[in-house]
Formats: sequence, C-alpha cells, structure tokens
Amino acid sequence: MMKETYLGVHVSPLTYEGIVTEVKARMKRDEQSTIIAVNPEKVMTAQKDPQVKDLINTSTFQIADGVGILLASKLQKGNITSRVTGVDMMARLLKFAAEENEPIYLYGAKKEVIELAAENIQRDNPGITIAGMTDGYEQDEEALVQRINDSGARIIFVALGSPKQELWIRRNMPRLKNVLVFQGVGGSFDVFSGTVKRAPALFRKTGTEWLYRLLSDPRRLKRQLNLPRFLIAILFNGRN
Ligand code: UDP
Repeated sequence: MMKETYLGVHVSPLTYEGIVTEVKARMKRDEQSTIIAVNPEKVMTAQKDPQVKDLINTSTFQIADGVGILLASKLQKGNITSRVTGVDMMARLLKFAAEENEPIYLYGAKKEVIELAAENIQRDNPGITIAGMTDGYEQDEEALVQRINDSGARIIFVALGSPKQELWIRRNMPRLKNVLVFQGVGGSFDVFSGTVKRAPALFRKTGTEWLYRLLSDPRRLKRQLNLPRFLIAILFNGRN
C-alpha cells in the first residue's frame, strides 16, 4: 500500500472499502491494525511534536480526515480524492462487525454519552455484539485491560481525544492480543449518541465542515488557522 507523505506525515490513499478489505485480510492473519485520522491540525502538531508524528506514522492506516489533506494531495498530484472521516470509518467498521460477527468494545466519552451511543449503534446495526463498554474517565487501566480481554472483543473504538487515545492504544495493544482492530475516534461517540450534531449535509458535501464549525463556535479560529498554515507549508515544501 503506497502512502502519501505531507510534511513528513503519512496518509493512506485508501477509501472506506479499501480499508475494510485490508482490515479483514489482516484479521484473518491475526495481525493487529490501528487506524488514526489525519487532518491539517494534526500534521501541524506533528511538526513540533515528534511523538505525535511517530504515533501517526507507525499506525497501520492513516485516514484522510479533513478537506485540507485532499487539497494538499491535489496540489502535489497525489491520489487522495475523497475524505475518509473518523466517524464514517467507525460507522463502516460497525457494519462490518455486525456482518462478520466480530464483537466490539466502546471505550471513552462520558457515561451518559457512551450509553446512548451504544443504544443507537445496536439499533442501527442489527445483530452487532457490543461485548463491553467503559466511559473515558475510568482510572484503573489494568482492570480495564482485563475487562476488555475477558469481553472477547475483536474491534475497539477509543474515544479519549488526541493524542490521549493514540497513546492509550500504543501502550495497551501488546496486552490486548485478541483485539485486532484499534480505532481512535475522538468525539465520535458524542455524534453516535446524538449529543453532538454533525454539520448539515450541504457543508459535508462541499467539504466546508470547517466553515460550519467556525460559524457555530468562533473560538475555533485559532485551531483552524492550521488549515491555511498547512497549505502554505505544502506549497513551499512540496511532498516530502
Ligand atoms: N474524553 C474522555 N476522557 C478524557 C478526555 C476526553 O473520554 O479523559 C472524551 C470526551 O468526553 C469526548 C472525547 O474524549 O467524548 C474528545 O473528543 P474531541 O472532539 O475533543 O476529540 P478530537 O477528535 O478533537 O481529538
């Protein structure tokens, strides 16, 4: 699988289906996979923080979450032509889990949020096995690892925000041998629970979710300045 590299950060050019196909093949071979979402903000953080860069680059799949990555790929004549968002990737993996009878575990977010999310996930994916769930404010990591191992889950979604969730995954993967798929999903449980609404379809279709978020919460401007910064850096540095 050829990756594209932007300012030293790898991105997989695979679509949702491509990732599911590869994940399935890797599961057959008993190989663990990690999925991390990459957006311009994370690429810019990675410039200053080598640990973040390493967390991204050592993941199995770096999905192109964020229209900025698409623009960068276009500027550099790359092959990434559609977004693969964290929340939609999770939705696709839930469908896969239901079809293939692969038990899942949900870890992260507030107790009320995860409970609502689990209800909606069960309703929208008939037959899915939610082997267990733990809110994101659990303190005893050892006990949690034990609980996940005992649950028989094969796919885990970790929603603690970045880079906390990626660090948790890296730390605990070796002890969770039967879990073969790890996705860090940030605020996705909030979306599945219905607590947080996604941007309206118009913004989603036109790749301007960032604009919707900015209009609904102008304090995000500082974070969002990473998008133009990223594109300028790409223009000056090229693909490397
Ligand atoms: N969260 C958690 N435990 C923590 C800190 C955060 O479970 O110690 C949860 C929080 O409740 C929210 C998610 O992690 O559901 C963070 O979502 P956010 O949108 O901030 O993450 P991002 O996608 O921006 O990394």
